[in-house]
Amino acid sequence: MKIDKAAIQEAVSTAHRDHSGDDGGKNASYIPYLASVDPSLFGVAVVTADGDVFEAGDARFEFALESISKIFSMALAMEDAGLNDFHDKVGADPTGDPFNSVVSVVLHGDSPVSPLVNAGAMATVSLIRADGAEQRWDKILAAQGAFAGRRNALSDVVNDSEQSTNFHNRAIAWLLYSGGTMYSDPMEACDVYTRQCSTLVTTVDLATMGATIAARGINPLTRERVISNPALVPPMLAEMTMEGLYTASGDWAYRVGLPGKSGVGGGMLAVMPGVLAIAAFSPPLDPVGNSVRGRKAVAQIAEALNLNLYNARDYSE
Ligand code: GLN
Repeated sequence: MKIDKAAIQEAVSTAHRDHSGDDGGKNASYIPYLASVDPSLFGVAVVTADGDVFEAGDARFEFALESISKIFSMALAMEDAGLNDFHDKVGADPTGDPFNSVVSVVLHGDSPVSPLVNAGAMATVSLIRADGAEQRWDKILAAQGAFAGRRNALSDVVNDSEQSTNFHNRAIAWLLYSGGTMYSDPMEACDVYTRQCSTLVTTVDLATMGATIAARGINPLTRERVISNPALVPPMLAEMTMEGLYTASGDWAYRVGLPGKSGVGGGMLAVMPGVLAIAAFSPPLDPVGNSVRGRKAVAQIAEALNLNLYNARDYSE
């Protein structure tokens, strides 16, 4: 499916213009660094599975990847543990609860339900095969860079801010350990998970990361095969549909129909398999934890380009 390049740039520019003035939402404040980011920043980008890049606004500003990191670590852990084992150990269902819910973990016998909530993401990190924390971290950072097509880096400022306030996640990690669903030292998994959230990307990087998923694991800019086994891609996209926007995932699927993933740094990503990825960044979040402008901009671009995974009629033409 080919989309006219002028139509993509028009959709990106229009979405940026239409939502620049939206002033709803608030920056995340439970991580002190995130509260300090300029709330007026707003970037939008599309990268196609063929490697064309379209952007508007602050699309080259570096922001914290946060929860969006979960999908890339999921690819590593699925590769190392195998699809079936990964599914058995981490689960794949929507939780219906906030991304940091302790209740959800307890209700399920101290086990995670999805790799895209904090509990499941820490269990995911613990399943990445490595000799200790540093090797595990190196694998995660290298994978993020390969998806983005450029080596991105840890922000010490963001990481310090998170590591000094992540007591809630540490509690979740110990709960998983007590339930036998943590596969490395729990504090090591929490530490590495916190680091993977504290790396910086631009909106263009994020769209490239999504386009790599859209292109079945081949980075369309570098042509590197980033996901060794293309069979890992459908479960990644399925899980994004189930839990990518937390308790708003169903609403997003109903209205937009594209696998998506958000982060409390203000990043927002949606993927149209085989075609392209749409990314946006803007720090103010809705109460669920999704970027207000990001959600609206990505949804608007998807609609303008007639992209909805469930709309079979359009893709058979
Ligand atoms: N680092 C954040 C946390 O663990 C990421 C959460 C998110 O982006 N939803 O709470």
